[in-house]
Amino acid sequence: MTRALVIVDVQNDFCEGGSLGVDGGARVAADLSEHLEAHGINYDFVVATQDWHIDPGTHFSETPDFVDSWPPHCVAGTKGAQLHPDLDTDEIDAYFRKGAYAAAYSGFEGLLAPEDEVATGDLEADGDEDDAEVLSLDDWLRQNEVDEVVVAGIATDYCVRATALDAVQAGYSTSVLLDLTAGINEERVAETIAELEDNGIEVVQEQVQN
Ligand SMILES: [Zn+2]
Repeated sequence: MTRALVIVDVQNDFCEGGSLGVDGGARVAADLSEHLEAHGINYDFVVATQDWHIDPGTHFSETPDFVDSWPPHCVAGTKGAQLHPDLDTDEIDAYFRKGAYAAAYSGFEGLLAPEDEVATGDLEADGDEDDAEVLSLDDWLRQNEVDEVVVAGIATDYCVRATALDAVQAGYSTSVLLDLTAGINEERVAETIAELEDNGIEVVQEQVQN
């Protein structure tokens, strides 16, 4: 198996103090760094997704319902869209950005970020530098012969959920590291866990070291 860890939206705006802060967001950032230090060897690749909004229409609202509309967040190029500083990015091989002009909950809607913002040059070993096509997350994973996807990040009941469901739908063996996620709504998190399991996704709990 070739395994990739997909870190979903561990961005400042989704952590405490951000415009759409989720309780436990900063903890997820720090715990993911520890996880990578202890278990990074278990992953062939590590990628991160970012909500990256330019003009996402009704996804933003002055009077959000916190179901389909939200306070403005993760505006492209702002501090709120950056990854949380407690997340160690050394191991991240590529970044995928989603939601420029419409809501995008799944990391599989993400496109590879510009090369100068990609943490390592490993992908370029293929020598396809003339290829101007922007890779989707799915394209990138397939190019790297990934067949197993492990998902963590924020928020459990939104973007982690959507990313994991798309991963299993796309044919990847998929699991979610529940302890390395933070959720918005407790009831929705419980429903999400059941839904993920119903779809053949392994929901792993209490796997964090210590
Ligand atoms: Zn968004």
